[in-house]
This record gives sequence, structure tokens and C-alpha cells, in this order.
Amino acid sequence: MPRLIIVSNRLPVTVSADGEGTVVHHSSGGLATGLRVPHERSGGIWIGWPGDLSEATPEEALAIEERLREMNVVPVGLTREEQHVYYEHVCNAVIWPLCHDRIDQLPLLVEGWGVYERVNRRFADLVVEHYQPGDLIWVHDYQLMRLPALLRERLPDARIGFFLHIPFPNPEIFFALPTRRWLVEGMMGADLVGFHTRRYRGHFTAALRRLFGIEPSADASVLWSHRRVALGVFPMSVDAANIAERASAPEVAAERAELRAGVDRLLVGIDRLDYSKGIPRRLLAFERLLIEHPEWRERVRFTQIAVPSRGGVRAYRRFRRDVDALVGRINGEHATPTWIPVHYIYNTVPESTLLALYRAADVMLVTPVRDGMNLVAKEFVASRVDEDGVLVLSEFAGAADELSEALIVNPYDIDGVVVALDAALNMAGMERRARMKTLRAQVLTHDVHRWAASFLDALAAVRRRKSRRTSGASPDKAVQK
Ligand code: UDP
Repeated sequence: MPRLIIVSNRLPVTVSADGEGTVVHHSSGGLATGLRVPHERSGGIWIGWPGDLSEATPEEALAIEERLREMNVVPVGLTREEQHVYYEHVCNAVIWPLCHDRIDQLPLLVEGWGVYERVNRRFADLVVEHYQPGDLIWVHDYQLMRLPALLRERLPDARIGFFLHIPFPNPEIFFALPTRRWLVEGMMGADLVGFHTRRYRGHFTAALRRLFGIEPSADASVLWSHRRVALGVFPMSVDAANIAERASAPEVAAERAELRAGVDRLLVGIDRLDYSKGIPRRLLAFERLLIEHPEWRERVRFTQIAVPSRGGVRAYRRFRRDVDALVGRINGEHATPTWIPVHYIYNTVPESTLLALYRAADVMLVTPVRDGMNLVAKEFVASRVDEDGVLVLSEFAGAADELSEALIVNPYDIDGVVVALDAALNMAGMERRARMKTLRAQVLTHDVHRWAASFLDALAAVRRRKSRRTSGASPDKAVQK
């Protein structure tokens, strides 16, 4: 296996203080889990930002660096200004909303691209410093869209892959970005560009057609600056077998029993508090269920975990206030002295509670208005070792392409969601199990290890080009800015 250089904005580590100093742990996120095996097995390195370490003393900083070296990870430093302009503003206040079709959430000033480029260049410097001929370079996500082209200028023969973890939107929306062309050129520095779904890839090829007048060939590749760039579809997933095993632990079963005590039916939602996740419409659908189907009053509880997210971005602070107000209004209007309909938790929950919630849910509500993939839906399915429980899933989550045995809903159609909720709550055991069995077969066979291996196989198969200096620049034939 060739050596692998993984590049992502965040390193797969968490640095925390333990009272006597700092400790560095592996994080357990989807990407960290999926890439741990290839990272370790290939003897490669992982380059990224370790988080804000400005509070660490010089001795602590040294100890952290030493520990990171042992873990074969290479830290990229970001100043406070870069964290604000590159990460909070350009990435999370501009590119994120646009790629989730939320043009309405854009700040008035869509700027900061010079800082975005500067940070991408800093990542490029470190990749070039550590690169050895024959390595595979795998760049991740929307924070590093310029990086493939910056690397191509300096490593013309390297095999470079890029995977976009968020949707690529319809060009009509993407073209609102003044830098649309420059960002696409950045991605095209790669030999392989990966998306979660065919739809996102289709949007990307439509953008290529309109910006540069180029068409993909039958094998979904395009000719770009004398190179062939493959455009692939690789739906990301979770470590399904491992989740199933952990969800079977006795302490999870005990916590599940506590969560179910005194409730006839439990609906569960688990999301970062992000406007892409469809939480307000989900709450309205739940309220409408209580009004239109009063037989469910005092019998159902809707537990919504909202994980605090991106509090440095104004749109997120505003969104939090809106959700708080909506939960308060619904509970105020519908609660009784012995029953509160919405159990709202604005916090992260420990992993055992997360698994217990998945296992306790009669109905899992995953209704984003747009989501690249949505791993919560797959974790729910993986954890249902009892082959029970109903998944209500938005057609606008990437996961819907694979999980067609869920009850698929349009989250904007609140009446339709109410119908699906009522159907889910009334679904007979036989149908629930038949659906869940099919969902589990899909998730267990298409796990995160398969996702990583299939991307890396495709990248390793990229034919080594003849050594010929090409820049990451676009073809001459430009049709539209
Ligand atoms: N999650 C977590 N702590 C929590 C709740 C959720 O770590 O308290 C995890 C969850 O297990 C899942 C991830 O957060 O792996 C959310 O991933 P998803 O793809 O659904 O959405 P994203 O937050 O990446 O947009």
C-alpha cells in the first residue's frame, strides 16, 4: 500500500487539559474512524489544525507537539485572525450555507478569500515538505478547495484526491459566489474528485460545463490542463459493525430502559444545531401531529438533542434563539401538569446516551433541508441490533439514496411529514422489522472502511502521468466567468 498523506482542516485529535497538563486523544468522528486504518497501515501522516492552542504554555505546547509527532500527525497553526476569517467567515458563514442551498444565510459581505488562499497555501507548504514520490495525497472538504491546485503547481506528478463532504449545490446557487471559478479550479488540481451522491457530481459537471465549456466523458472523467480528472461517487458511512457491538452493551440497555420509562412512544432527533438540519419544521410537524392526532397527546415524547455548533457565526446564534423560542412556545401551549411534549437538550451527550437514544427510539427523525450525507441516520440503523424502529428520512439527505426503506419525506411539506410520523407511530411490527432488516443489510455492508478503501483504490489506480509541468490553471476555453 502506498504511503498516504491525509489533509483535513481539523486533525483527528482532541487536545484537552487534565489539571496537570494537556492530553491528546484520538477523536472518534466519522472521518477519524474511517481513515485511522489506512493512516496507520500505510505509515503515512495526517496534516491539519489541532484546534486553538493559544492558551497552552510553551512547555505544554512542546509536549503537545511531541505527542502529535508520535501519532504521525502534523499540526498546522492558525492565528486568531485566520480562525475568524478563514474558518468562521469564509468556510462556515459563506461556503457552508451556499452548499446547503441557504443563500438567505449569507452575510452581506462575502469576502476573506485572500486569507482562505493563505491558509490553503500553508497546508500546501506542509504537504510539499513531507511528500515522498509515490505517496497518495487525500485532501478533505470545503475548507481546502484551493489546495489540490496549489499542490499541483508544486507536485505535478503526485496522485492527489479530493473529497467533498458537503453537497455541491446546483450551479444556479453556487454561482452566487464571486469566487466560483477559482474554487472549481482549485478542486480540479486533483486527479480524483469524490462526492457522496450522483446528484452532487451532476451539479459539479454542470458547473464545469457552464464555467469552462467542458463535458465529462462516458467514464465520468474530464480532460483538464492535459490531465484526466476522474469524478467519482463514494457515499460515506459509519463503522457499522463496531456501532452494533457497542450498542449491545449492558449499560446501553440499562440507559435505554430509563429513557423509555413512562413514555408510550419515543421520537428522537439528534443533530448539530445547524439551520441545514430542518429542526424548526420538524418541531412544527410534531406540533401538528399533536393537534391533528390528539390520541398521541400525553403518550409521545419528542427528544431532540441539539449539539452546540459554530457559536462564533452570527447566523447560528440567531438560529439558536429561533429554535429556543419555538420549543418554548410548543411546550407552553401543549404541555400538561404531567407531560411535556418536547424534551429539548442543547448539549452534546455521552456516547452511551447517544446509543441508548438510538436504541430507545420508536421513530428516528432525520429531516434536514439539505445534508451532504447524514451519519446520524446510518448510526441509528447500525445500532438497531433488535431490527426494530422506524427511520423518517429527508429526501434531501445524501443518505436517502441508499436508505430507501426509510419513510422518505420532503421536510418542506409539513403535512406530508405529519402523515409519515403518524404512519411510523402506527406501523406494524412486521413491516418495521422488514424495513429495518433491509436498511441494516445496506449499512453493514457499506461501512466507512469500504468507503475509504474504495476511494483510495480509485486514487491508487490513477495512471501516473508523464512528467510534464502543468499548472493547476483552467483550460483556455472559458465560456463564462
Ligand atoms: N454526535 C456526537 N455527539 C453528540 C451528538 C452527535 O458526537 O452529542 C455525532 C454523531 O454520532 C454523528 C455526528 O455527530 O457521528 C454528526 O454527523 P452527521 O453526518 O449526522 O452531521 P454533521 O454534524 O457532520 O453535519
